[in-house]
Amino acid sequence: MNSKQNYTVEILFHERQIQKKIFEIASQVSKDYKDKDLVIVAVLNGSFIFCADLVRNLDVRCAIDFIQVSSYVDIQSQGKVQIISGFKEDLIGKDILIVEDIIDTGITLEFLIREISSKKPKSIKTCVFLDKKCAHKKEVPINYSCFEMGNDFFVGYGLDCNGFFRQLPYLGRIKEFDK
Ligand code: 5GP
Ligand code: MG
Repeated sequence: MNSKQNYTVEILFHERQIQKKIFEIASQVSKDYKDKDLVIVAVLNGSFIFCADLVRNLDVRCAIDFIQVSSYVDIQSQGKVQIISGFKEDLIGKDILIVEDIIDTGITLEFLIREISSKKPKSIKTCVFLDKKCAHKKEVPINYSCFEMGNDFFVGYGLDCNGFFRQLPYLGRIKEFDK
């Protein structure tokens, strides 16, 4: 993909549908972490909008940390996860909720769970915006998920294709056309 090509984006979920689902998930998370020591670990870049909406719907005390990883170029996973920027919070004895945009093969989340385990937290759970269930290659526990999707490539609501489309308030799929 390059920025000079023309694209249209097919809308799959409108802002209102997304917000309704996030409210449901956040209510469940609030219940489950009522008396816990919650640390949200948002996986950048893709989860920045999802996580911002999720935490603003939470009704429990939590700290928020960020980790930046990279594994995709264009629409292909490189299968190798790299940490670009790591944790700032002390995770020892904490109840960690990893907030990720998408689980696809599960390679990224498996890697992150291993990394976070080494920091000796009390518990680790996962929360994803999209779950491409049929694409999993690793067995990773998904504790909270907003939408189950097919094996397609999605953009918008924080998700990019080479840096573009993140700002779209809806979730969509690229329909490509050249002029
Ligand atoms: P996995 O390691 O599970 O194969 O892939 C995880 C990462 O790849 C996700 O966190 C996400 O950043 C990226 N990814 C996977 N599928 C898509 C997709 O459909 N659209 C976008 N924009 N990123 C994706
Ligand atoms: Mg991601």
